[in-house]
Amino acid sequence: MSEIPEPKIIKSHRSSITIQITENGELIVKAPFYAPKFAIQKFIDSKKDWILKTLERTKKRLPIKREYIEDEKFLYLGKEYNLKIGKFKEISLSRDNLNFPLGLLFRIKAELENWYIKQAKKVIHERLNYQAKQMGTNFKSVMFSDTKSKWGTCFHDNSLQFNWRLIMAPLMVMDYVIIHELTHTTEKNHSNDFWRNVGKFTPAYKQHRKWLNENGHLLKI
Ligand SMILES: [Zn+2]
Repeated sequence: MSEIPEPKIIKSHRSSITIQITENGELIVKAPFYAPKFAIQKFIDSKKDWILKTLERTKKRLPIKREYIEDEKFLYLGKEYNLKIGKFKEISLSRDNLNFPLGLLFRIKAELENWYIKQAKKVIHERLNYQAKQMGTNFKSVMFSDTKSKWGTCFHDNSLQFNWRLIMAPLMVMDYVIIHELTHTTEKNHSNDFWRNVGKFTPAYKQHRKWLNENGHLLKI
């Protein structure tokens, strides 16, 4: 059983005690000025289960810390590749490997990011055109972004925007986001009709949404 971390106690003009766990797994307790230490401890103890459960979840969702070393895992279309640094002419995929030229190692993050963005533009364009045809729908234009927690957007004029990090997700998940935004070209809300139409072209959309919620933080370079 894991332990409850030492809380950071913030006292202020408030009337009740609340607890909060930050993204970094820090336990923050906000308490009134007059709250005695034992009352705060009692409150923390009463929330023990919630604190431990939330900490566990926070730990799992902590972003990846990259080292850019041999055999580090990188995602591409949902598959894990091992980083190989060597005498390669350019960045490429082969079998289970993501090959990276040794000479570019000093700026590996930027080089990988450029490469992923290039692939994303190509694949998302292809899938977008394919799905639009399937669905008999049209869009105005497409842009690419790196908006955190936002995978796709359909603007009022039916121009679309996608997060290039989707190239790291499985193709079916990428397709779901594309279909979701294409459905918005005719339906701007998230009504039951909207979801019914999404389901026509991606029946397992609930699973894909769940995948993004649970794994979105892993789509990092
Ligand atoms: Zn939407």
